[in-house]
Amino acid sequence: MHVLDEIGLANELISRGSVAEAFDFYSQSGAKLGSINRDMERRFGQPAVNVCRATLNEILIDKAWCACVSLYFEKRLIKIEDRGDQPIIAYFADGTTAEGDFLIGADGVHSVTRRQVVPDGPQPFNTGLIGFGGFVPHSVLDGRSIGRHVETTFGRSGFFGYGYCSPDPTAGVMWWSTQPAHGMDAAMFRALDPATLKQHLRDFHRGWHDPIPGIIEAAENIVVTDTLDVATLPAWSRKRSLLIGDAAHATSPHAGQGASLALEDAMRLARLMQGGQELGATFQAFEAERRPRAEKIVAMARRNGNSKREFTATGAWIRNQMMKWLLPLGSKSMDFMYAYDARAV
Ligand SMILES: Cc1cc2nc3c(=O)[nH]c(=O)nc-3n(C[C@H](O)[C@H](O)[C@H](O)COP(=O)(O)OP(=O)(O)OC[C@H]3O[C@@H](n4cnc5c(N)ncnc54)[C@H](O)[C@@H]3O)c2cc1C
Repeated sequence: MHVLDEIGLANELISRGSVAEAFDFYSQSGAKLGSINRDMERRFGQPAVNVCRATLNEILIDKAWCACVSLYFEKRLIKIEDRGDQPIIAYFADGTTAEGDFLIGADGVHSVTRRQVVPDGPQPFNTGLIGFGGFVPHSVLDGRSIGRHVETTFGRSGFFGYGYCSPDPTAGVMWWSTQPAHGMDAAMFRALDPATLKQHLRDFHRGWHDPIPGIIEAAENIVVTDTLDVATLPAWSRKRSLLIGDAAHATSPHAGQGASLALEDAMRLARLMQGGQELGATFQAFEAERRPRAEKIVAMARRNGNSKREFTATGAWIRNQMMKWLLPLGSKSMDFMYAYDARAV
C-alpha cells in the first residue's frame, strides 16, 4: 500500500477494493481459533485491502497510460541477446524485437528471463497443494455479518477462505480453497466438466461449517491453479538483465505477499536507478537490499502452506489448539511485512 500511495493509487485501491479489518481463523466445525491483521491502518499507516487481480491490473495499466508509458500486449518473449557493446535485444514470438540499454525481467514464475540470467538454475516446482477459487454473488452471505473481515478455515485437510473484495454489491464475494493435490495437477482438474469439478469441491468440503457449502453450490467459472514455488536463485542479474518480482523470488501464495513484493521491487529499483550509479553496481545493490526480505517472506509462505496439508484427526486438533495460543505471536512476527515502507529505505 505504501508503494501505491507513493504513485497516487492507494485511495483508488481502497475505493475499488475492500478494506480488510481482520483475518479470522476457524476450525472445520466453525470454532473460532483467532484473528490477525487487526488495526492495520493505525499501526502501519495504511489499511490492508482485498482487491481482485483484474482491478489491480486495471488500476496499474491506467496509471501507466496516463504517464505515456508504452504498453504492448500479446508479445511473448522467447530470447534475449546481450552482446555487451551493442544494445540488448529482446526477441518475441511474433518475430519482432525490442532494443534497449538494459532489460528488467518481471515475467513471473515461469520467467523466460530467469532462464537467461541463471541458465542452469532452479525450475518452478509443484508444492503438492492445489488452489480453486472464484467469485459468488453477495446474496450467498445474506444474514451473515462478516463485515469487513476475511474469514478462513483450516480443515483436517485443506483450507477455505472468503471475503468481500469490492464495495460494489453486484461484484462477487471472493472465495478460495486450498487442498492437497493427491497426484492431480491444475490441468487435470481443468479438463473435468464443471459439474464434476463442483462435485469434487462438495465432497472435499462436506461437513465444513456454513457458509462454505453454500459458497460451493453458488460457485461458477471455478479457477484452478497449481501452487508453485522456485528454490532460491544463485543470482538475480547477469550482464544487463535483472529479475524482479516472481521471476526473482517466486512465492507460494500462503503469505499473500507476492504482488506486494513485486511492487516494492519496482519502487526500490526505480529509486536505486535514480541514484545514477553504474548499472552492474545498481543491480548488485538492489539484490543485496531486496533478497533478505523476499527470502524471509518466501520461507514464511512455505511454512504457512504446511498448515494446509493433510492431518490426522489428532494432528488437526493439536494444530488448532496451537493456533489459538500462537496466533497473537504469529501475528506479531508478521509486523515486519507491513511496517516496511519502500519509500523510506
Ligand atoms: C492462487 C494464487 C493466489 C495468490 N494470492 C496472492 C495474494 O493474496 N496476495 C499477493 O500479494 N500475492 C498473491 N499471489 C502471488 C502473486 O500473484 C504473485 O506473487 C505476483 O503476481 C507476482 O507479480 P509479478 O509481476 O512478479 O508476476 P506476474 O503477476 O506473474 O506477472 C508476470 C507477467 O509477465 C507476463 N509474461 C510471462 N512470461 C512472458 C513472456 N515470455 N513474454 C511476455 N510476457 C510474459 C505474464 O503474462 C504476466 O503478465 C497469489 C498467487 C496465486 C497463484
